Amino acid sequence: MDVVIPTSPEEAAKAFGDGKGVTIVGGGTIVVPDITYGRLKPGKVLMLARSGLDQVTRGDGSVTIGAAAPVTAVEELDEPLASAAGHVGDLEIRAQATVGGNLCAAHSGEAPRGDLQAPLIALGARVRSTGRGGEKVQPVEEFLAGGTEGRLVLDVSYDAVERKAGYAASWRPHTHHYTILAVAAAKANGELRVAATGLGPHAVRLTAVEQSGSAEDALEGVEPVDDALASAWYRRTVLPKLVKRALEEVA
Ligand SMILES: Cc1cc2nc3c(=O)[nH]c(=O)nc-3n(C[C@H](O)[C@H](O)[C@H](O)COP(=O)(O)OP(=O)(O)OC[C@H]3O[C@@H](n4cnc5c(N)ncnc54)[C@H](O)[C@@H]3O)c2cc1C
Repeated sequence: MDVVIPTSPEEAAKAFGDGKGVTIVGGGTIVVPDITYGRLKPGKVLMLARSGLDQVTRGDGSVTIGAAAPVTAVEELDEPLASAAGHVGDLEIRAQATVGGNLCAAHSGEAPRGDLQAPLIALGARVRSTGRGGEKVQPVEEFLAGGTEGRLVLDVSYDAVERKAGYAASWRPHTHHYTILAVAAAKANGELRVAATGLGPHAVRLTAVEQSGSAEDALEGVEPVDDALASAWYRRTVLPKLVKRALEEVA
């Protein structure tokens, strides 16, 4: 196994190239156990720990979070991102895990992952990534819908504007918990954005709720999944209640 440890964002992008055969390690909380237990057999590993992609900057009317920034670094940023970050696993996981890794963390088959995806969608965040075809900047929801394979996330940014935000989640009271389902909402300049994590392989935007402003439309266009944490029935039952709570916070 070839291990590459770039020391700048430019080196990281060059080493990633078109992404063919490259496995990215952010914090490694998912990918390292997969390699250790033989579930993943990478030819080339790109470790981002020293890539310089860990900076969080606020300026020019926006906030930019480097892909290798730890989840703990966003606990002090804007809502609903801060609340979601504070609920990822436990302190050990949050200190090790990265924002890029969380953004690209798919459902494990047993539990949802990627808790930062919904709040980033609610914030109207954009992902800057590189890979085949060069650098691209896309809305988070478009990036996730296109599949994260073959892309190296460089950073994610959102506008630093006055907004109201809401976050409501369902999880088990356990130190190493995973979130079962969570809803993030944000209202800025009269625009309401609402998204949910835990319904499927990645977070989705709840456009019907955004248009009506009502929790009664929470189930429109969504297909909740069964997994080891909860049934699809449970998720269908709980989703409108979480949407209602999140909407109350942005009212
Ligand atoms: C006990 C425990 C509890 C957990 N609880 C939660 C939870 O509550 N919520 C939650 O969301 N997750 C949870 N997780 C899962 C995981 O720790 C987090 O999702 C974490 O944020 C993943 O980030 P990472 O940097 O460690 O990812 P990694 O393991 O480094 O990578 C995850 C995936 O993303 C890819 N990747 C990493 N960085 C990039 C990048 N810059 N560009 C493109 N692809 C990239 C990797 O190749 C891999 O496919 C938990 C894990 C454990 C072990």
